[in-house]
Amino acid sequence: MLKGKVAIVTGGTRGIGLAVVNKFLDNGAFVVLCGSREETVNKALAEIRNRRPEAQAEGAWPDLTSLAEVQKLAADIYEKYGKIDILVNNAGISARDSIYQYTEEEFDKIMNLNIKAVFNCTRAVAGYMKEQKSGSIINTSSVVSLYGQPAGCGYPASKFAVNGLTKSLARELGADNIRVNAVAPGVTRTDMVAALPKEMVDRLAAGIPLGRVGEPEEVADAFLFLASGMASYITGEILSVDGAVVI
Ligand code: NAD
Repeated sequence: MLKGKVAIVTGGTRGIGLAVVNKFLDNGAFVVLCGSREETVNKALAEIRNRRPEAQAEGAWPDLTSLAEVQKLAADIYEKYGKIDILVNNAGISARDSIYQYTEEEFDKIMNLNIKAVFNCTRAVAGYMKEQKSGSIINTSSVVSLYGQPAGCGYPASKFAVNGLTKSLARELGADNIRVNAVAPGVTRTDMVAALPKEMVDRLAAGIPLGRVGEPEEVADAFLFLASGMASYITGEILSVDGAVVI
């Protein structure tokens, strides 16, 4: 479904991002996976090559909160491959502090990665996609962007902002044939969920109409669909992959 496409995936070292990387590679794409540290990026690449020795993958660890660093990465990729077809903005962090304890530093940290980095990466690739007259940008939202959550207000606020950026940029970039969509996962089995108390995850799972948490591969399928030609007339969409959960 992605034969010959060049894709960048942020937060590609584990969880949903790594599942997206594997799905894209399985479908013929060349993937640049980004992580926060050289060590974790190389570990992910080793796992990928172990499973699929011919994988067309390489790694990078730019500071996503720096526009200059991300622009440098995009320029290097464009120079090497002559195009950038797909950008997946997936890197994200969460915190569940109460507003009574929430620090300014924690709020800034969440906003810098969850929304400013999405802006930076989009800003860095949009010009190349405009030149090509094609591109697909897929952001990672969350079910909490629909309802908020009862603690940790920074995280849902950042995901509401992701939806806003997605819908606005879909309208702005449509004329250049650049599609901008988001996937909104529900409770998905990754380190982010492993960090929650088990009772909380069990309680959440019991309340999900499909009766279980989602797997990263199931979420990755939505990214594959939106990245592919099968979604050629879909833009500005926030696609929920959440078993119909209401958190
Ligand atoms: P995870 O914690 O397993 O992976 C996070 C990824 O982000 C890692 O690859 C990590 O390297 C990268 N990352 C973290 N901090 C970074 C930084 N400062 N700079 C660059 N990269 C950094 O998380 P996940 O559950 O796979 O989440 C991926 C995305 O999905 C996030 O945007 C998250 O908000 C969203 N999401 C997850 C769930 C869930 O239930 N797991 C639900 C809804 C939305």
